[in-house]
Amino acid sequence: MKIYRFLRWFFAVSVLWVTVLFGEIQNLSFSPSPAWSAGQFIFPLNCELGKTCFITNYMDDDPAPGSVKDWNCGSMTYDGHNGTDFVIEGWEAMDRGVDVLAADSGVVTEAVDGYYDHCQRNCPYENSNHVFIRHANGLRTVYHHMKKGSILVKTGDRVKKGQKIGEVGSSGDSDIPHLHFIVTDSAINLINPYAGPCSSNRSMSYWENQEPYQGGAFKVVKTVLTNQIPQNGSIPSSENKFYATDAYVTFWVRILNVQAGDVSEWRWYTPKGELYSSCRINHDWSYAYSYWYCYTTIAGYPAAEKFGVWTVHYLYNGTVIERATFTLEPLPSNG
Ligand SMILES: [Zn+2]
Repeated sequence: MKIYRFLRWFFAVSVLWVTVLFGEIQNLSFSPSPAWSAGQFIFPLNCELGKTCFITNYMDDDPAPGSVKDWNCGSMTYDGHNGTDFVIEGWEAMDRGVDVLAADSGVVTEAVDGYYDHCQRNCPYENSNHVFIRHANGLRTVYHHMKKGSILVKTGDRVKKGQKIGEVGSSGDSDIPHLHFIVTDSAINLINPYAGPCSSNRSMSYWENQEPYQGGAFKVVKTVLTNQIPQNGSIPSSENKFYATDAYVTFWVRILNVQAGDVSEWRWYTPKGELYSSCRINHDWSYAYSYWYCYTTIAGYPAAEKFGVWTVHYLYNGTVIERATFTLEPLPSNG
């Protein structure tokens, strides 16, 4: 997984950036999956899809180099991606712990732990803390990028379906905490666990409960007002009251399914309701999952009218999608 980050400067000093997940490619061959089984695997994480975790890339089910296709005929993947990426909410969630679960019962054929797990870029591929499991019918599942010291199983262990085997991390070739989950047959040919119109496995899902396709409609999943400049992959702490001593007021959004050509915009309104500043970004790329922010500096606020209730609007393609208000006060009270 590599990070793509864009920095842009706007009126009143504003920064936007974005994380997009591209990534790791392993030396596994591609083949259409045989109908070994159906309904075998459970969701391999203890999280709520769409709220506390997100699918950002499916398996690339187009074997031709240079072209991509996910199981639903979309492009929520990248060339050669051999598994599914499940992203959790950020570093804080990773540090609290998000369980990785055995998708089915089986025998652990490899368990590697001990590698650094807060990778944001340039960690070697081979330094991924991972678990391989062989299931009774010969299928294999692979769990990559796990948290250092979290792996609870060792080679040869028998595990039960749903058993916790470790926690999500960002070890190896990873830029934010996520699980890279791979399914293969016994000969290590890739299997697409999703059934769908463009899956090599068209009719039988390998999931007990195959969740709906996660691509498609644009969606805001989280917004935060903060006095911080957000760090890569972290959800900033939320505020609704700011002081003259704060350097920044930042409005952060996490959004799904940005299409190239779409436009994000922020508008900042003074307590008098006048437009004070704005940020705008033309999205040059499509992103399944990304977060962006804009900030203004309080020092630049007009002195005569800066205290009171401010409003921020976040617009997408010209429509106000989110609104937030915050109070700006001279100084924190001692009480
Ligand atoms: Zn991946």
